[in-house]
Amino acid sequence: MYKILMTYDSQEGLDELLKHPEFKIEVFNKPSPEKFKELIKNYDGLLIRSEVKVTADIIEAADKLKFIGRAGTGVDNVDKNAATQKGIVVANVPGGNTISAAEHTIGLMLSLARNIPEAHKSLKSKKWDRKNFMGCEMQGKTLGLIGLGRIGTEVAKRMIAFGMKVIAYDPFANAEIASSYGIKIKSLDEVYAQADYISLHSPLNDSTKGMINTESIKKMKKGVCIINCARGPIINEKDLSDAIKSGQVKGAALDVFAKEPPEDWTIIETDNVVVTPHLAASTEEAQIKIAEEMSGVIIDYFTKGLIRNAVNVPTVDWETYKKLVPYIDLSDKIGAFQGQTIDGGISEIEITYQGTISTLNTSSLTVAYLKGILSQILDLKVNFVNAPSVAKERGIKIKEALIRDCSDYSGLIIAKVKTSKGEYSISGTLFDKNQRIIEINGLAVDVMPSGNKIFITNTDKPGVIGNLGTVIGAANVNIAGMTVGRKQIGKEAITIVEVDSSVSNDLIDKISKIEGVTKVKNVSL
Ligand code: NAD
Repeated sequence: MYKILMTYDSQEGLDELLKHPEFKIEVFNKPSPEKFKELIKNYDGLLIRSEVKVTADIIEAADKLKFIGRAGTGVDNVDKNAATQKGIVVANVPGGNTISAAEHTIGLMLSLARNIPEAHKSLKSKKWDRKNFMGCEMQGKTLGLIGLGRIGTEVAKRMIAFGMKVIAYDPFANAEIASSYGIKIKSLDEVYAQADYISLHSPLNDSTKGMINTESIKKMKKGVCIINCARGPIINEKDLSDAIKSGQVKGAALDVFAKEPPEDWTIIETDNVVVTPHLAASTEEAQIKIAEEMSGVIIDYFTKGLIRNAVNVPTVDWETYKKLVPYIDLSDKIGAFQGQTIDGGISEIEITYQGTISTLNTSSLTVAYLKGILSQILDLKVNFVNAPSVAKERGIKIKEALIRDCSDYSGLIIAKVKTSKGEYSISGTLFDKNQRIIEINGLAVDVMPSGNKIFITNTDKPGVIGNLGTVIGAANVNIAGMTVGRKQIGKEAITIVEVDSSVSNDLIDKISKIEGVTKVKNVSL
């Protein structure tokens, strides 16, 4: 009998698991960290949503635990490294809420266009007021999407049926696939300038945090409407509130906020702002779909040893996995490094395995690499199971090459990526058990793929490194190490600066203005 601890109390969609003779499910709703630590000792499996944090501490106390199932998408409440080290599988259910989130976005957009919440409130207070709630049609208007992943695409398909023209900005989107749905890929400034409605569907990351602010709002059409069902911090709430008060923005519809529950209520109290408390994924269907899928994942893992939907383990049996672990982690890191440093939508990936590594199960290594690179671009839900299908969905061609000979290293992984902006390469190896990146874009480097780094491309000329040190030092950021790679004096070079923590967008901006610097990116591994 496998004992599973559930930390939330909704059992809908879990019938298969609850009725299974080999499982005993016990529910402790939202245990405190102390209680959780004490309880976890007795269970083989854990089933959670977002109500608990599975910290390294909890995992350490979990003597019998083999499986953590997150009934939802985000696994940021689980310490995945601690789980992996202890051999615990962490699995999720990616994409179960796409349709719910898309439909909610449209609901908010229509509510805003037709003043539904305000008219409802007025009529409920027994006022028959028709003149104050004049609305607008969607037909003929331009919808600008920022982020064209699963939800963005579903919103687009539905709003095209409303007669809207749909344009999108997504630096990693495949323009051909978008065009097959009738969506035109545009630059961010074009979306700002042309859209009547702007709907946000990108992940929250360094480049999207605070992107809707006074500066970007100035580039938008006067009277634009903004919808956010993605993540709150993508919008600077104070700037949006000011822009609505000034009339530059007509209104906004928001499901997500900078802090949840909010601490500053300014944006919520602003007129012409329609709000819901992070409800986009909250539908019976989404929760049931997710619970049903997770039931099957748990049953398959415990009864057949089959690993599905894992975010930290590829789908091979555990014994094979243990042999692959060092290279899997290296492939994942190489992908993650490359995903944070390239530009443009990916069209092709070629991975070459050289040396002893070419005799291993390289398809698992390719999946690990894909998970690494795609997780940087998509919203946290690429895992070892869905990485190949996510790549296929995005029209990315994948090639694998195996070369037995490798004179200088025991095993070498070389990943070459073609994007709409250029071609990039990266090579990594293991020295004993130590991971190293030894080549980036044809330049020899020696970099450990871990921690926080600033990745810079620059012209190799006197003064660049000195200015770099000055700018970083002035921002009070400690430089822990630096690697420079170059082929020829005076030509293109790569500088990788190791720092103690991720640096601000402001510092990245300052570095990009140093003479000779051609590109700067934050890298966190
Ligand atoms: P997804 O990973 O399928 O799509 C995200 C898209 O954003 C990708 O196509 C990616 O290429 C693109 N992108 C990455 N960086 C970008 C950038 N700088 N600018 C523009 N586009 C960029 O994710 P999804 O499932 O469609 O989710 C979209 C958003 O909705 C995420 O922020 C997610 O957290 C959020 N979400 C919210 C709710 C809710 O309850 N409100 C529910 C589900 C998802």
